[in-house]
Amino acid sequence: MNYYSTNKQTPVTGLHEAVVRGLAPDKGLYMPEVIKRLPEEFFGCIEKLSFQEMAYRVADAFFGEDIPEETLKQIVYDTLSFDVPVVRVKDSIYALELFHGPTLAFKDVGARFMARLLGYFIRQEGQRQVNVLVATSGDTGSAVANGFLGVEGIHVYVLYPKGKVSEIQEKQFTTLGRNITALEVDGVFDDCQALVKNAFMDEELNAHMKLTSANSINVARFLPQAFYYFYAYAQMKKLGKADDLVICVPSGNFGNITAGLFGKRMGLPVKRFMAANNRNDIFYQYLQTGIYVPRASVATIANAMDVGDPSNFARIFDLYKGSHADIRNEISGAAYNDEQIRETVRGVYQETGYLLDPHGACGYRALEEGLRPGECGVFLETAHPAKFRDTVEAVIGHPVEVPAKLQAFMNGAKQSVPMSKDFGSFKAYLMNK
Ligand SMILES: *Cc1c(COP(=O)(O)O)cnc(C)c1O
Repeated sequence: MNYYSTNKQTPVTGLHEAVVRGLAPDKGLYMPEVIKRLPEEFFGCIEKLSFQEMAYRVADAFFGEDIPEETLKQIVYDTLSFDVPVVRVKDSIYALELFHGPTLAFKDVGARFMARLLGYFIRQEGQRQVNVLVATSGDTGSAVANGFLGVEGIHVYVLYPKGKVSEIQEKQFTTLGRNITALEVDGVFDDCQALVKNAFMDEELNAHMKLTSANSINVARFLPQAFYYFYAYAQMKKLGKADDLVICVPSGNFGNITAGLFGKRMGLPVKRFMAANNRNDIFYQYLQTGIYVPRASVATIANAMDVGDPSNFARIFDLYKGSHADIRNEISGAAYNDEQIRETVRGVYQETGYLLDPHGACGYRALEEGLRPGECGVFLETAHPAKFRDTVEAVIGHPVEVPAKLQAFMNGAKQSVPMSKDFGSFKAYLMNK
């Protein structure tokens, strides 16, 4: 399969190059040339398939031409080593719980898939070690580090701002060891990002070691997110609730929802989508006005959605050939401020006993306010509430149960390498590797 850039200023490329590059040379995002429709027969019996079986069918549509069947199956099955259950919250509103993976957030799926795909490319070509550089303000680092943990031929360097990430986030990438190194940068997130960008541009460094990124726009992280939309549909079908299905996605960079839109193009019978924003409501405004106006992000309690210029908007725009009318036809929006998010976490907990995280709360509320008669809604619960413990505990007024998996990270010993924000010392460190 070939991949083209949304900016269309660069030739199409194969999967391998698209994965290693991440961003196209013209700074566009890669799109698969074809989004294959899956046969009716597949949707007819989808509820009889396991999550892994149906995910393999989806993966085959994108990657089947480039990866041998057995290898792709192995990658998919290894990636999906945890369940993604649909849980009833109330009446016609269900949560798709994406937080049962190693770092308790949906980014585990894409990160695990990408790590295994890259591992395959390295083995196949007998390449020297590949080094993944990732700058993180918290959650991306943990998903990438855990996704790549123990994958042969790859070493991951996580750069994070000293004292600027929560203890639990920090523990999730500093306690792993093995092929994961955490670099504690004396600076802010932007300094970490600048170090990574400079490293990719430094000729001497790139001659010394093979560098790649694992950011969220990478096709190998982005496309696998389609898997769980099929599984959500299958579970709703089993419940007899799939006829007028609305899927609502708490959105920041819009990668997650875009993967769902790809699923719909593949024939998944979802009636429509909703994108829930926090106060960073750039997409919501676009839906109202037809004009896309990025702006600086503001901090909210649903901080993984604090994005002022959602990168995957380029993919949505491309998918609908720039038609505002077509986009509005398939996606509606909503936006909530911190007070409304808190109110929703508290209200739903009191009313139903279901504990939302601040991101899922936006999704839930958008469905509650936006479902039409006869429709059934699934929102993506993108992270476990215990990951936002301070916020959630302050809202409900008592301690949140911390899952054993999260607790295990807390018990590990932090190991990090102190790093200055000066590129010279970062480069000298890497040149010694
Ligand atoms: C990354 C993230 C989001 C936003 O997902 P996008 O694909 O960037 O829209 C939402 N919730 C949580 C918990 C996240 O980590």
